Amino acid sequence: MSMIQHLTAGNTRSVVKPVLLTLLSNFLNIVPLVLVLQAVNLLFKAQTERGGEMDVQGLWWVCGALLLYMIVVFWGERLSYRACFRGAYSVSAEGRARLAETLRKLPMGSLLRRDPGDLANMLMGDFTLIEHHISHSFPQLAGALVMPLLAFVGLAVLDWRMALAMFAALPIGLVILALTTRILRSLGHQHMAAKIHAGNRMQEYLLGIQVIKAYNLVGPRFTRLKDAFHDLMRESIRLEATLGPFVLLAIASIRAGLTVMILVGVHLLLGGTLDPLIFVTFLVIGSRIFDPLTAALVNYAELRYASLAGERILSLHDEPAMTGEAEPPESCEIQLRDVSFSYGNKQAIDNLSLVMKPGSLNALVGPSGGGKTTVLKLLARFYDPQAGNLYLGGQPLTGIDPERLMAKISMVFQDVYLFQDSIANNIAFGRRGATREDVIEAAKKACCHDFIIKLPEGYDTPVGEGGRTLSGGEKQRISIARAFIKNAPIVLLDEATSSLDPENERDIQKAIDTLVKGRTVVMVAHRLKTIQRADRIFVLDDGKLCEQGTHEELLKHKGLYAKLWDLQQQSQGWTLSKHLLAV
Ligand code: ADP
Repeated sequence: MSMIQHLTAGNTRSVVKPVLLTLLSNFLNIVPLVLVLQAVNLLFKAQTERGGEMDVQGLWWVCGALLLYMIVVFWGERLSYRACFRGAYSVSAEGRARLAETLRKLPMGSLLRRDPGDLANMLMGDFTLIEHHISHSFPQLAGALVMPLLAFVGLAVLDWRMALAMFAALPIGLVILALTTRILRSLGHQHMAAKIHAGNRMQEYLLGIQVIKAYNLVGPRFTRLKDAFHDLMRESIRLEATLGPFVLLAIASIRAGLTVMILVGVHLLLGGTLDPLIFVTFLVIGSRIFDPLTAALVNYAELRYASLAGERILSLHDEPAMTGEAEPPESCEIQLRDVSFSYGNKQAIDNLSLVMKPGSLNALVGPSGGGKTTVLKLLARFYDPQAGNLYLGGQPLTGIDPERLMAKISMVFQDVYLFQDSIANNIAFGRRGATREDVIEAAKKACCHDFIIKLPEGYDTPVGEGGRTLSGGEKQRISIARAFIKNAPIVLLDEATSSLDPENERDIQKAIDTLVKGRTVVMVAHRLKTIQRADRIFVLDDGKLCEQGTHEELLKHKGLYAKLWDLQQQSQGWTLSKHLLAV
């Protein structure tokens, strides 16, 4: 049962129709056997009862019935084929949509832990595997098991001794098969892991090809890729080489039943206790009954392997989704109470409590690794804290509907992702239904209108992979434009660490100054001069809050902030004097 569950990625009902149709088709396959036996019977009778005179009319009836059978089967198979495939494709379409829905509800943290290649492989590759097996291999296996069972009952009524002889070796075959299943579980997991690993290395190689070439890493990186393919090859050979003999042995032992049956049949025939016609019946049915069974057995190993793919998909559905149904409150007051958060064993936030007033500009500063970005990620619910809680307008974040919470938050992070689409659509993506006028207005506020209209196709210039490349500063302004168009009351801002040219820096600063007006802003600041006007500055060090206040208050306090300020002033003075010297 669990195999069916895995094989269908949880949609067990989807196999019912294909299995029933395959059983029906297998059942119909018996008809020609019965007709052939009827023809043999007529021949026998002509020899034994009618003194050599054939029942020609009877033979015509048999031929007519065969013709009718062929027409019925042709239509039946066509319908069953269509139903099976339609069923399988709709299962994978529904499954993919369900998985995408699950992914949407998972916290960013769970998604980031996985390789993107792994998820893509699941959405495409795993479901393709499942499609094939739902429509094909599984019904075939079910049919191959049910039909011999029915045949056994029918044949046992004819002659139980012959029936027993025919199926004597079947249990041995099934035991070998059960053993194969066990081996496959462990080898299959290893093989699948190697396949995913190779896929990820391939993706890494292709995406990073520019850097790889620039740093002349073609050799070492290619070795990594080659090693991954080599591992996959080794696992594949191991899987085939280990399973192959077992499957062949299972097939051979099932087929041995036919030999046993012939030996017993000849013995009984010579002893005079078996009717020759019954012997012929057994021979005809015996020669046909094992073929689908052995074909299905060869598929069985593949079927188990496909069920591992389904198991992987189901494990993702089991991951805890983000909680919360409540409407977010009107107030944008942000509070952290005794919040602690670790990435695995690495503690990033240590018992942190702070309050940010609605409509205020708040800056997070401090040495690198102090936990500033993590606070932003907790506010955006990429992760939920292990201890303590975050509150919006006095309501715990974990109780608020994640999607409605996101509607209240704009994020301007450093790593701006641009879709393979026009600039206009990349900005419009901030709000559903945004018009071209909205886009231009947002772009003007974000100081990117001027550079956009200078592009060959203006707002329709394609960007992202394969499109025009934008500079870091330009990308960041696009992401600020997205925030303008979204017009959310809370803005989470991660200031760029990389140094920008003065013009870009001035434009970005101007865009940010306009964006933060009238909103509740939490900003990770690296250059302290940009946050002198912040309403509150929180100094984080080693995951703890060590100081808070306005710029003036903190300077007076002469703590870590004052030290960092002095350091930055000095380094700026130093660059300035260097410029002066150069002039
Ligand atoms: P900051 O933004 O102040 O530089 P972060 O919030 O990025 O600091 O990081 C705080 C600590 O958590 C650092 O020690 C960092 O190494 C660690 N950290 C950050 N992100 C991850 C992650 N995804 N996995 C493991 N450790 C992380």
